[in-house]
Amino acid sequence: MRDGPLRFLVKRLALVCTATDLRLTRLILRAQGRRPFKLGGACHLCAACCESPMIQTGRLVFHGRFFRRLFLAWHRHVNGFVLIGEHHRSRTFTFTCTHFDPATRRCDSYRSRPSMCRDYPRVLLWEPDPPFLPGCGYKAISPNADRIAELLDAEELPPAKREELKRRLHASEE
Ligand code: SF4
Ligand code: SF4
Repeated sequence: MRDGPLRFLVKRLALVCTATDLRLTRLILRAQGRRPFKLGGACHLCAACCESPMIQTGRLVFHGRFFRRLFLAWHRHVNGFVLIGEHHRSRTFTFTCTHFDPATRRCDSYRSRPSMCRDYPRVLLWEPDPPFLPGCGYKAISPNADRIAELLDAEELPPAKREELKRRLHASEE
């Protein structure tokens, strides 16, 4: 269901907070020496990432009854995310989105979509092996891609094997 003016406003305010939080968190990670993958490729608007959005949470939200209920109520009533599953080991919730129209594959409230939708798939670039959705037009490129490619080029390898290794090590920009 399309967002009305009140929900639009609430989501815009929340966006300022979550986007600021995201920037600060990533600044801290960088200051600690963490280097994310670079984002390569491009979005081809398949909307696969809208089919079942997932959110990984901390222990308090996933296991704490009060915070869990608050978190899920916020996502249900503000963002329009309906819980359909959860994965305990990774503390991840899976939702369907009431703003997603599977027929047109479009978002009915794109201008007020939450920050996680705006940020996707950058969040994956901090994972050790970014799990992009099958068919996603984006790809992760290692911050050391040039060096890895140089080392592989110096090895005597069959061309297909070399390309396979570059792909698996996220050293290929193609
Ligand atoms: S899955 Fe990837 S290519 Fe498809 S819409 Fe989402 S970001 Fe774009
Ligand atoms: S709010 Fe819009 S962009 Fe975000 S998951 Fe739903 S349909 Fe996709």
